[in-house]
Amino acid sequence: MSADPTFRQAVATVLAELTPQPWDYTDGSGATLTVIPAGLREDYGRAEVMIRAAASKTEAAELGIKSSGLPGLLAALDEGTVWSHVTSLDDQLTVTPDAAGLLLVVTDVVYDSAIRERTATVHLPEEQRMPLASALRRALDVARGWEDPPVCAECDAEVEPGVTWCSTRCRNAADRHDLPEVSGE
Ligand SMILES: [Zn+2]
Repeated sequence: MSADPTFRQAVATVLAELTPQPWDYTDGSGATLTVIPAGLREDYGRAEVMIRAAASKTEAAELGIKSSGLPGLLAALDEGTVWSHVTSLDDQLTVTPDAAGLLLVVTDVVYDSAIRERTATVHLPEEQRMPLASALRRALDVARGWEDPPVCAECDAEVEPGVTWCSTRCRNAADRHDLPEVSGE
């Protein structure tokens, strides 16, 4: 008696989701794009997915996009629009659709003895656009799994995603901080 293939497929899918592998693609010029979910505990919205472009083994540029920034990239990939993003470390990713697919440019600011920039470019054919989007979605799920739940901006109580304050009381307290000072100096 063998296991039901549908069941085995379901198990394989679950395992793939629990242990996502880095996704990579090497273009005709030998440049490789890699998507790697980071595995670090972070506050809500701050876990990262690493995107690395490597023109060769020695010339690579990498940046981390926070989970809060990834939906914008996914929307751009779905819609075939230009997307550009600069991180808090001044690293940059620009995705530009063209007639044959997508051009991805990663600029990585390296803080050594001097500040220098490394840039690497990968061209993805059109048929790799959706596989890239799927890889980013899986990596986003993993990143979200490493995040603590969102907390109230006022009292640090746990809140639902997208909610700023846990209560009207906290919202009102936050409003009071925002009021201009009335008293003179
Ligand atoms: Zn609160």
